[in-house]
Amino acid sequence: MAKGGLLGKLLHVELKEGVEDFSTYPFSIPAVRSFDERSHTYQGFVLRIEGEGAGPAGSLIVALGEGAQAKHGFRPGDLVSGEGEPVADGRREIADLYKVAKLKRTPATQSTTAPPPWLTAPPALTVYRDRGHRRLDTATFRRKCANCMWGCEMPVEMIIDQWNPTHVRWRRETFCYGPKSCRLYRAGPARKVPGRKGMTWVEEDWIDEQNTSHREQDE
Ligand code: SF4
Repeated sequence: MAKGGLLGKLLHVELKEGVEDFSTYPFSIPAVRSFDERSHTYQGFVLRIEGEGAGPAGSLIVALGEGAQAKHGFRPGDLVSGEGEPVADGRREIADLYKVAKLKRTPATQSTTAPPPWLTAPPALTVYRDRGHRRLDTATFRRKCANCMWGCEMPVEMIIDQWNPTHVRWRRETFCYGPKSCRLYRAGPARKVPGRKGMTWVEEDWIDEQNTSHREQDE
């Protein structure tokens, strides 16, 4: 398939992390872990769309640059149409389609439901970067947070042997950038990162606490 069509109802506008300019790359470089070290870059957004072209998970995920999101102001409930190119390697990339053209938005009626979850259009990438994140239980993300602007899922490349960076494994992780007081939040089990010779590093809670220590509970 050279082109993938997309048309459907927008479930979620979600932070996308990866390389700085995905329009020039066939794949994105995701978050990277190397035992006790991790790095993220803030690339843009993804739209999770239900409708035509949805995969087995029930949604189609489309990569979107920050400029396109700022121009269109997508938010959950909108109807979206456009055309994109399929991504070949699903391990490295959360999106099914990228390089989207002919984007069109039909706005939904503004949600009057009080948060959480937060169903408005997401803020600029710098806001996410400044806020920092905490790990988010994957089941909670799917059941409660899958349309909140503060929740996101990303592919993670794990370098198993720092002396042999080609030895990698992949997985997906979910994160929350929202207020620490959110009643829907569940951290889930501590994340474990495999390393050389069967070693394992456990990411303790203090790392998330440190990462968001500059925010008050309701911020
Ligand atoms: S836990 Fe985080 S992602 Fe989920 S609803 Fe609350 S703020 Fe949103």
